[in-house]
Amino acid sequence: MSQAPTPSTHALPSYLNADQLGPWGNYLKQVDRVTPYLGHLSRWVETLKRPKRILIVDVPIHLDDGTVAHFEGYRVQHNTSRGPGKGGVRFHQDVTLSEVMALSAWMSIKNAAVNVPYGGAKGGVRVDPKKLSLGELERVTRRYTSEIGIIIGPNKDIPAPDVNTNEQTMAWMMDTYSMNEGATATGVVTGKPVILGGSLGRRDATGRGVFTIGVEAAQRIGMEVRGARIAVQGFGNVGGIAARLFAEAGARIVAVQDHGGTICREAGLDVPALLEHVRLTGSVAGFAGADKMADDAFWSVSCDILIPAALESQITAANAGRITARMVIEGANGPTTPEADDILHERNVLVLPDVIANAGGVTVSYFEWVQDFSSFFWSEDDINARLVRIMKEAFAAVWQVAEENKVSLRTATFIVACKRILQARELRGLYP
Ligand code: NAD
Repeated sequence: MSQAPTPSTHALPSYLNADQLGPWGNYLKQVDRVTPYLGHLSRWVETLKRPKRILIVDVPIHLDDGTVAHFEGYRVQHNTSRGPGKGGVRFHQDVTLSEVMALSAWMSIKNAAVNVPYGGAKGGVRVDPKKLSLGELERVTRRYTSEIGIIIGPNKDIPAPDVNTNEQTMAWMMDTYSMNEGATATGVVTGKPVILGGSLGRRDATGRGVFTIGVEAAQRIGMEVRGARIAVQGFGNVGGIAARLFAEAGARIVAVQDHGGTICREAGLDVPALLEHVRLTGSVAGFAGADKMADDAFWSVSCDILIPAALESQITAANAGRITARMVIEGANGPTTPEADDILHERNVLVLPDVIANAGGVTVSYFEWVQDFSSFFWSEDDINARLVRIMKEAFAAVWQVAEENKVSLRTATFIVACKRILQARELRGLYP
């Protein structure tokens, strides 16, 4: 194998200019930070700075009033060196190409960090699903799936739920893909309803992973989880479940923020009651068992652990200095900007990065895909035990790399993951 350095090329794809970089720019900075630790594999690093494949699609549907609306959709396959693309689909009014590119890249890193045999991919539709009827939402989902059908498939790229998509969305996606193929293909998406080949334990998996990694890290820094005060941003699939598991372990959830508002209770919120309130009303706002607080005050709430579990770029240079937590567990993807990361590091706040902390979802997605292929389904206890084992082992490896190299856990996770991806790249070589 030749060790000659790759000629340096411009890292910026031509379809993005510097002021549009957004979350993709944050990801590029993270790659730059890890490059010095990649040894001879750094000659392949440009691979990580260019998504393998980007598809932009028009998604036209009939609205209920008879008019036609168009939405823009994306599917980005960042890297497939280690296996098929894998990553969720987001429906949100602010979805951009830069965001989907970054999310697809973080999936490559995450899948390699927990060593599941996938590359990284992500999808999104720029739509506010809260403004659509159920029928309109189904039509958006089906048309989007048909449009990206040319690049997804059980062996090619396997979508899953993300912000504002859920088991029902996955059922529609699986059905649409299967209709177009002429045969039921359960393995084309994960996060499906259990009755359609979904996995037990998938719904709770990301939150359970957040909890598992949080407990592992707490042990290592001598923090007691019982009695710890926790603030959570985002109370959906990830934040809601993580809060429930931490509360069950004796922690106090002292503040929660979602898109509707911010609430707090120093003695600890009643998490099951709050989950029920959100199920009924769609938001934590108006929950009777809590006080209302100003949204911006959330970042200075007195707490031991902060769990951002909503959207990216929430912890920024503007609020990182006010965070009182000793530990931040990134349930969301990309919630901390690189500038904020530095501020937290200087202030001795331990950041458990998204690329390991929220990898529980994709790990059980992998179990779901394996179960679909073998048509043999495992018990929930079995799934949870395997999940916890993978998460603990992956975290232990990352912790060790961080200690050895005296780097942050994010850089350590990138070191472990980038090496795996680039080793695969190097062994496969370039085609043709
Ligand atoms: P979700 O749709 O179930 O919940 C999102 C939550 O974020 C909601 O409580 C919503 O109110 C809140 N939110 C939205 N906008 C907000 C804002 N501006 N300010 C405060 N809160 C806001 O989504 P989810 O599946 O829980 O995903 C949350 C994050 O976790 C995303 O970054 C997602 O990419 C990441 N993630 C999800 C999974 C998964 O399995 N679902 C896996 C890995 C990572």
